[in-house]
Amino acid sequence: MSNPADYYEVLGVARDADAATLKKAFRQLAIQYHPDRNSAPDAEDRFKAINEAYAVLSDPEKRARYDRFGHEGLSGRAGPREADLRDVFGGDLFEQLFGGFARRATRPGARHGDDVRLPFPVTLEEVAAGGEKSVTFRRQATCATCDGSGAQAGHAPVTCDACGGMGRVRVQHGFLPMVTGCPRCRGEGRIVTHPCGTCRGNGLVQEEVTLKVPVPAGIGEGHTLRLDGEGGQGVRGGQPGDLYLIIQEAEHPFFERDGDHLVCEVPISFPQAALGSNISVPTLDGKARVKVPSGTQSGRVLRLRGKGLPNVEGRGRGDQLVRLQIETPVDLSPRQRELLEELESLSGDHPGQPRRKSFLDKLKELFD
Ligand SMILES: [Zn+2]
Ligand SMILES: [Zn+2]
Repeated sequence: MSNPADYYEVLGVARDADAATLKKAFRQLAIQYHPDRNSAPDAEDRFKAINEAYAVLSDPEKRARYDRFGHEGLSGRAGPREADLRDVFGGDLFEQLFGGFARRATRPGARHGDDVRLPFPVTLEEVAAGGEKSVTFRRQATCATCDGSGAQAGHAPVTCDACGGMGRVRVQHGFLPMVTGCPRCRGEGRIVTHPCGTCRGNGLVQEEVTLKVPVPAGIGEGHTLRLDGEGGQGVRGGQPGDLYLIIQEAEHPFFERDGDHLVCEVPISFPQAALGSNISVPTLDGKARVKVPSGTQSGRVLRLRGKGLPNVEGRGRGDQLVRLQIETPVDLSPRQRELLEELESLSGDHPGQPRRKSFLDKLKELFD
């Protein structure tokens, strides 16, 4: 090998680094560059170099020779001893990185079920009331024909002889043993020779299910409901996935939501605004009568306390805000026109329009 990298540089430590510093640097780098965890193309080479550097520098005798003679001082290379590595990483991490056949919590070939994510439309009425709502969707389910084994009846899967059913094989990675998924059975530990016709051997089929989902009162756009284990089924003992329902608020013909408040706009006529009146407004509980005070200006907001939405965390209920919009009459009948003209002709004597008066006064000041 030409010009091998300096071991101290490889580990990023000073030449007088003590054993603890070496160990710490090695541990960090080995975790960072482990090829199973780092997909960069040079990760494997870096990983090997890190191991090689540590093998030498962690051995006082080899380190002394390396310091005096450089790479030439070392004949033959060996990886760090397994006992040393266990010491550096602790048992569990050692198994992961250097792959003894750690006993795994799940069977070989076990796979988690897929999570399912769905938009979940709710109306403001449903948000207000809370309660249950049905959702129908498709998810993966265990194939009933083969009971999830993936094999035709009478043709049980055979244990993979390449990995002895472990699903993983030990390979030499540079000079360190590592464990990787068995290429023969693709990690399943077994080989299906005669695949089930219903699921084509993967043990899963699509099913349509309908679930009743609790909808918390006051929930809103963008919230997510999670139902543990209601996603797709796993295979060979793998856990099922979860169901995530992403709340989408349906548009309402009257209301816009502002947090826990509801806002609605109600058109009223000019005489209703001027004279005052009782009008009907929509609420989530049905129609309500609301008093419009005389002399109401367009845009005035009336507040109906407690007629909004319940707070999702149980902090009471919001209000309903009724914004009054005065609608100017159009397509006047001759009689309406007559009356309005008469009204306008009287406004000089009795303006009763404070904003207009102040506007006209300012205009006069500026230009007359
Ligand atoms: Zn099947
Ligand atoms: Zn195998």
